[in-house]
Amino acid sequence: MIVGIDLGTTNSLVAFINGEGKPEIVINERGSRLTPSVVYFKNDQEVLVGELARSQMVLKADRTVSCIKRHMGSDYQVFISQRGYTPVEISALILRKLVQYAREYLGQEIEAAVITVPAYFNDNQRQATFLAGELAGLKVLKLLNEPTAAALAYGIRSEKKENILVLDIGGGTFDITLMEGEKGIYRVIGTGGSTTLGGTDFDNRLAQYILTTFYEMTGVDLTADKVALQQVQVNAERVKVDLSTVNESSVLIPYITMGEAGPLHLNQVVSRAAFHKICTDLFVEIRSLILQTLAKAGVEERWVDVVVLAGGASRMPGFRDMVSEMFGHAEIKTDINPDEVVALGAAIEAGMLAGAVEHIEFYDVTSHTLGIEDNLGEFVPLIPANTSYPVVQSKLFTTVEDDQEEVIIHILQKDDLNTAGSEGLVSLGRFHLEGIHKAKAGEPNIDVTFAIDKNGILNVSALDLDTGTTNQVQITGAVYSGNKESLNRRGRGLTVL
Ligand code: AMP
Repeated sequence: MIVGIDLGTTNSLVAFINGEGKPEIVINERGSRLTPSVVYFKNDQEVLVGELARSQMVLKADRTVSCIKRHMGSDYQVFISQRGYTPVEISALILRKLVQYAREYLGQEIEAAVITVPAYFNDNQRQATFLAGELAGLKVLKLLNEPTAAALAYGIRSEKKENILVLDIGGGTFDITLMEGEKGIYRVIGTGGSTTLGGTDFDNRLAQYILTTFYEMTGVDLTADKVALQQVQVNAERVKVDLSTVNESSVLIPYITMGEAGPLHLNQVVSRAAFHKICTDLFVEIRSLILQTLAKAGVEERWVDVVVLAGGASRMPGFRDMVSEMFGHAEIKTDINPDEVVALGAAIEAGMLAGAVEHIEFYDVTSHTLGIEDNLGEFVPLIPANTSYPVVQSKLFTTVEDDQEEVIIHILQKDDLNTAGSEGLVSLGRFHLEGIHKAKAGEPNIDVTFAIDKNGILNVSALDLDTGTTNQVQITGAVYSGNKESLNRRGRGLTVL
């Protein structure tokens, strides 16, 4: 059996195609469809995942790990009893648990999976997700972009020509995708969003508000008290969820700390209006990210026929009101549970790969411009952002010095939206091509090829067309973090031919 997995920042889900050819969510041992993406290291032998781990977050904050997705592809490690764990290892523990749930629910072995990733995930982050799947003993057949999965979940119900906007706001990420769909063929024409904006930011705002109000009322600052902070954080999320259905919610945490005159209790009421007020700038940011994505794709609000909402945080009334106001003319799809829509789409993709459901063609696009650095330190693009993949693109380069026998290919990603670094350039890795035939500067023909596979993972190769010498690299987290060598361009630079 091949399953579809939504490996979320806050919650994860696993789904499959049932006997009627329909996608269905696996129900876990607690009768729930969502499994919190939380890991609790009870001791050296025992690791708990999901709801059991989440319930330890308050008292065992130093032994629980949450929101690990935010660190995927980086060299971040979380230390538990002095042992460091990588985001790949933590994610693999979550995946293993999901596979176990699927095996128990279906009574079948799970051999392979389609795992979803944010459209905005770069190569390092995709590679890390892929490795996590493999570490969990899964054959990862495809990394599917989450918004594409959401559109697939709706798409099988529609035959009309439609321009679709997918807004997927989960715990830690906000993904925006523009797609043109007709008769089952979907083409992604633009992506955008943020890898650092999600429901958790709204929780943090509320937590801050609750702490400030407590300080104003009692003069006691709780920010140094780890256990109290965790309690406030958990309550903040609950209040946010409550405020999606009611206008007012309250927080009561008895005996939160000791005051001068004895124990203090935290007792506050939070209104939806107050919540919206403290989150105004987050809504403004969401709106401007949507407008930026439309502008980048050269379309306006009117272009959108259908808005698909995904991700738990899309239930916030403030979010829905903003979407209705921006896209009043469009059909806003809310009939599939926004927590489940991505996993259901992943199951459809898994079903298509297994031949269990009718094939729907779709094309994803790159979210960043990819290229290399030339001898002057300038960025030379090879694959522009918004290019459909799989794709292969080549460009000819040459040497800059006479008798130069080596070049360094320094692979760069230009982040058009979330500018990292001065020009939004991120180093993805570098490799050498040695043994270039000796010639005058500008004579050798060095072909540099960028190939993006169906998972969005980049392979770069360089070939000296005169000698046939070749070298290549697949972009992995290891190349990214392990290669700290400074780029000495003397005798090793290259330029566009
Ligand atoms: P996901 O990553 O898609 O599982 O989304 C998780 C995020 O959605 C978390 O920040 C949750 O607090 C949030 N969420 C879930 N249900 C609701 C709700 N009813 N109202 C507001 N936020 C919600």
